[in-house]
Amino acid sequence: MFVTGKKFEGETCAYCCEVTATTDDHVFARKFFLEVQRANLPQVPACERCNGEKAALETELMILLGFGGRHDDAQENLSTLVAHRLENKANARIARELRAGVKRTWVMESGLATQALTVSIDWAKVERLFCYIARGLAWHHFDRVLFGADCVVQVASLAGNNATHVRRFRGGQSQRASASATALDAHKA
Ligand SMILES: [Zn+2]
Repeated sequence: MFVTGKKFEGETCAYCCEVTATTDDHVFARKFFLEVQRANLPQVPACERCNGEKAALETELMILLGFGGRHDDAQENLSTLVAHRLENKANARIARELRAGVKRTWVMESGLATQALTVSIDWAKVERLFCYIARGLAWHHFDRVLFGADCVVQVASLAGNNATHVRRFRGGQSQRASASATALDAHKA
């Protein structure tokens, strides 16, 4: 059940760009964040169908992506919000599939081999959610831009075969900001 959006009444859905929105949606679902971090998150108009599909993706990925967080709130998020969701009976399927997909592996961290836990994730769902987010952020930041049926929004992973670029990009970030863009371009070349 959705709360009817008043904030963007009459606007077109920022996600499908096809129908009049009937709800307001946080581009980044509030529950991805600790309660103290939930202020001023961008919102966009959304139709019920888009809002519903996005919410279903968020429900699952709020749990799974929590295991990969490297940000300052990641540990607290995992031990409070994610743990609470895993205890919720409504998320029993997600919890069951999560347990079945857990593996241990070795990864290199700062030159040291470190044991890590991995979880199985349906990357197609991550891409679908981030397509919604990309469209929502474009609408929010660039004066209500709508990517209609003639536009393609594509999400690409910077993991797997692209991991080398990620490592090089991280290296570039540690340099002075003015040099970072140049360094990244050079690495990509
Ligand atoms: Zn829509």
